[in-house]
Amino acid sequence: MQLQFWGAARTVTGSMHLLEVNGHRVLLDCGLYQGRRKEAFAINRDLPFDARSIDAVILSHAHIDHSGNLPTLVKNGYSGHIYATSATRDLCAHMLLDSAHIQESDVRYVNRKRQAQGKALFEPLYEQPDAVEALRCFRTVDFERPFSPVPGVTVHFINAGHILGAASVVLDLEEDGRHERLVFSGDIGRNGQPILRDPEVASDVDYMIIESTYGDRLHEGSGEARQKLEACIETISSSGGKLIIPSFAVGRTQELVYRLNELWETGQLPTVDIYVDSPLAVKATDVFRLHPECYDQDMLDALMRDDDKDPLGFRNLTYVREVEGSMRLNTLETPAVIISASGMCEGGRILHHLKNHADEPNSIILFVGFQAEGTLGRRILEGESPVRIFGEEHEIRARVDKINGYSAHADRDELLDWALRTHRGGKLRRSFLVHGEPQPMFAFSAALREAGLQHVEVPERGQIFDL
Ligand SMILES: [Zn+2]
Repeated sequence: MQLQFWGAARTVTGSMHLLEVNGHRVLLDCGLYQGRRKEAFAINRDLPFDARSIDAVILSHAHIDHSGNLPTLVKNGYSGHIYATSATRDLCAHMLLDSAHIQESDVRYVNRKRQAQGKALFEPLYEQPDAVEALRCFRTVDFERPFSPVPGVTVHFINAGHILGAASVVLDLEEDGRHERLVFSGDIGRNGQPILRDPEVASDVDYMIIESTYGDRLHEGSGEARQKLEACIETISSSGGKLIIPSFAVGRTQELVYRLNELWETGQLPTVDIYVDSPLAVKATDVFRLHPECYDQDMLDALMRDDDKDPLGFRNLTYVREVEGSMRLNTLETPAVIISASGMCEGGRILHHLKNHADEPNSIILFVGFQAEGTLGRRILEGESPVRIFGEEHEIRARVDKINGYSAHADRDELLDWALRTHRGGKLRRSFLVHGEPQPMFAFSAALREAGLQHVEVPERGQIFDL
């Protein structure tokens, strides 16, 4: 039995781990690596193994840094099954097509310049037919329903509480009469998050692969986050500015809408119009409505109340699908909340809103999600000004603020709690930290050792471990 780490190794994107049991190869996640364009393109295109040698893929959740390179895998000859929960599959249907569209239009843009310079043209990483082909490989399995992707491996999904359909993967491995249990956390959510059920843990675990995005810090409480959101809305409603919220289309946007709905319901929200301006977020919200099996009790209760109120929509909230609707927001004179993707400001309609409002001192740019190194979101958050948007310099005169309490990721104490509950019974022999930048990873590995866990590894890309 062997485990090799090919992505999210000392970084937060490109989740991909290769498990070998009885000579069968199982890939855990196949995510898109995001970073500097050239390097990212090469890492995503040049798979470190022969795609045809993979026997099965198990996908923890739909976020693009976990699912986004599946079309490349299929383009390179993979034809086996991709196992995921049905909500993950339905979100992927939108996200992989959207990703293909981004790959195609990015390359078109670069190629226009290259053609003018007489340079050779690039191929997109993958195109829509590759994404469709990847979707044909999906086999959906609900939580807690065991399946065997290859001989000697039995798998079941447990709730990760991170985004709709997100799972931690429990793998029971058997080779030469030896039995081991490996758990891959996927991304771990938070207890008490709206809409979704809380994260679960497995028992009798021998090996653990655990994410460590926020391994060195604590989130503010949800009360504090709520106050901050209220204060921002009050500020713009009196200053006449805009509250621009860059938000991941899947998960964060629906949570924000749910939170805003809560404020609205309790009558604490001044009357300002709220726009969700992201076609992908609109589609993802439709998928949310289709999967009550992922809801927690509060969300189920909210749905069953016969007062016709929709927890994912309310009176002064508008979902914007069409480009024309999005452009109309540019000329809006009244104060408004604009929630738009991408969450790290690397593309999408949020760029237009930043371009239009970044120089307004009465507007606020509010970050509610993790901003990876090298992204425009991170630069704005760190106070850089001017910044380049669509090739032009823009001064940031709007107030820049952030709320950590709405993270879809567990903070240090919650990660520690998840790890220690997985260790309950003291069977855990080795832990592998993935999905974090080096500083939080090493801080978290020290915290785990202090809490009594032995053999905590922080794998480098390509590193192999015998189980
Ligand atoms: Zn995720």
